[in-house]
Amino acid sequence: MIFIDRSRVSLDHKCQRARFWGNEFRGRGIAPEGAAYPLIFGSVLHEALAHVNRGESAEAALALVQEEFTTRVSPLTGERGWYLAEQWALLSGLVHGYTGLILPQILGEYEIFSVEGECEMPLKEGIVLVATPDMLVRRKADRTLWYLEFKSTSSNSGKWVKSWGRSIQAMAGALTMEQSVGEELAGYTILGLYKGYKDKKDGRTRSPLTYWWKRGDEESPDYKKGWEMLPTWEREGGVAKVVADLLSTPEGMQTVADLFPQTQPLFVNRRLVDQWIAQLIMREEEISAARQPDFAFPPREVMDRTFSQNFDNCEPSFGFDCPFVNVCFNPAGEADPFSQGYKWRDPHHKGDPAIGLHTDG
Ligand code: SF4
Repeated sequence: MIFIDRSRVSLDHKCQRARFWGNEFRGRGIAPEGAAYPLIFGSVLHEALAHVNRGESAEAALALVQEEFTTRVSPLTGERGWYLAEQWALLSGLVHGYTGLILPQILGEYEIFSVEGECEMPLKEGIVLVATPDMLVRRKADRTLWYLEFKSTSSNSGKWVKSWGRSIQAMAGALTMEQSVGEELAGYTILGLYKGYKDKKDGRTRSPLTYWWKRGDEESPDYKKGWEMLPTWEREGGVAKVVADLLSTPEGMQTVADLFPQTQPLFVNRRLVDQWIAQLIMREEEISAARQPDFAFPPREVMDRTFSQNFDNCEPSFGFDCPFVNVCFNPAGEADPFSQGYKWRDPHHKGDPAIGLHTDG
């Protein structure tokens, strides 16, 4: 069985060699020791929002994920004594903002159908596409089914929102859900979770959820020259009160709304998704043919043909470095990734054939 999910397709599109290291190496794939911080933040935030969508309060949802967040982020704080508190304030603020403003809007228009259920779509015999939608919702007005996807993002620009209108992968995900629930989806919406931006001067994350500004008794979520910085977690009532105060005025409500950029309802372009799926099947069959007996490392010629290297994506000028720089650029890493800071990849889906492989490490 060939098993495909969005992350391995994305990796393959960025660089075929990254797909090899991340998913194919000895049948399981490798990952750097210590997940990249954006992945930790995104996965804990999604987990907290799933609890909220299943009916927990913001406080209860945060209590359920706080220990995991602290355990995974504490080792990354280094000299920055404020880092864990800042990032927890950001995550908590997003959960409170979602619960206080966005979820009531969703529930005004839709009923929740399901939260984070794994869906599968057979593409042809022996090839399955898997997706895990954040939430499927049914519109009250006409009983149509919609899919809602959350994306933590460092941009809340109109360009970011617009980019989803042509995301074939999001459309293919929607079709996967459609097959799985046995009902046609009307469309989908992408909801951004804006993480603010990093201030180059002091490395702090600027967001109305992390820092306010203060002069005497006056306070503002907007930067004011000459005013003193006020970390939100040190403000009376903490981050929950920050969000509650923002939501008590029209301007503050807009400030919170800006943290959740969202697309208009989007529709699946079935012609393009069919083309994408045909290309995907060919590519996955090519990768399958390159796999060696007993998970041996493919010969160099096979590697170069099937998993060519896209050197433009090793250390891009914008975005994150490729996690496999230390295997591609370091001969010792290529020969033995485990001696150079890598571990086996954790399988994420229940049908992943890597489950049970190389359980020694
Ligand atoms: S380091 Fe560069 S060549 Fe190697 S997998 Fe990453 S992007 Fe591809």
